[in-house]
Amino acid sequence: MKKSGIAHTKDMLNRHALRVKKQYGQNFLLDQNILDKIVKTAAITPATTVIEIGPGLGALTGALLETGATVIAYEIDGDFIPLLKEHFAGPTFHLIHDDVLKRDLDADLTTLVLDPKDVVVVANLPYYITTPILMQCLEETTRIDRMVVMMQLEVAKRVSASTNTKAYNALSLAVQYRAITRFAFKVPRQVFMPAPHVDSGVVTLEFTDIHRQAVVDEPFFFTFIKQAFAQRRKTLLNNLQAWLLLDKGILIEWLESQGVSPQIRAEALELKTMINLANFFYKQLEKTSGDNDDT
Ligand code: SAM
Repeated sequence: MKKSGIAHTKDMLNRHALRVKKQYGQNFLLDQNILDKIVKTAAITPATTVIEIGPGLGALTGALLETGATVIAYEIDGDFIPLLKEHFAGPTFHLIHDDVLKRDLDADLTTLVLDPKDVVVVANLPYYITTPILMQCLEETTRIDRMVVMMQLEVAKRVSASTNTKAYNALSLAVQYRAITRFAFKVPRQVFMPAPHVDSGVVTLEFTDIHRQAVVDEPFFFTFIKQAFAQRRKTLLNNLQAWLLLDKGILIEWLESQGVSPQIRAEALELKTMINLANFFYKQLEKTSGDNDDT
């Protein structure tokens, strides 16, 4: 029998005398169809290594292990550790009791799995740290191939948004810079216990290095996109001016030299244009600071 559903979840909590901890973003998935859909979307084979963030009571973990894949699971809540160990003991299951944000995922992978291939992060993410987890996977690791992750609907839409939409912002650009993103499907709030206040969405991220090669300085690029969107209703020119405190005339000249209207808003700029602008500004600012050093 599949181990999901409200009766099973309540029974697990009661039998192990557990309580739901809001501070850890605990919303347990109750619907077997959605669990199956997540696993199917992740296209897992027995050769896959899955990183699961927040196994909780193990509903998704069980479905992942059934595929024959190796699973590395990070759980912060010590109360879940004994029951996860008891249910899933075996050579393909590695449980790490820790805050995932404190871990070096590449180091754990190579320590626990011999020559890990087809590495995929699959998770019903704790919503309070969705962005830090995304950025950790996108910026700090080199071994992850893709992610199939559930997050709150609003963030799922941001991550997969295109230009000139309400959802498009600095997070859309930061994610799409490192991965081809796709909104997979919506998940209604009623299929969780406790039910959160918002619906959720599952997003797939296929990692790629194509854009990375085009960026001159990655930390500057991330700062540039953050600042370009600092005040959404302001023009790009005004956001850049508030950040760089340079003469407006110079900034207008720089933007126009790159074929970008000073009146444009960041939400209208595609990734490639943003990369080109960030590179150009990086070089100009370097030149300007070099000129100042000479005087
Ligand atoms: N996977 C389960 C499911 O789908 O029913 C639980 C998902 S629940 C939304 C999020 C899980 O992440 C919880 O088990 C929570 O304790 C865990 N968690 C929260 N913060 C964490 C962190 N910093 N590191 C690791 N796990 C965390």
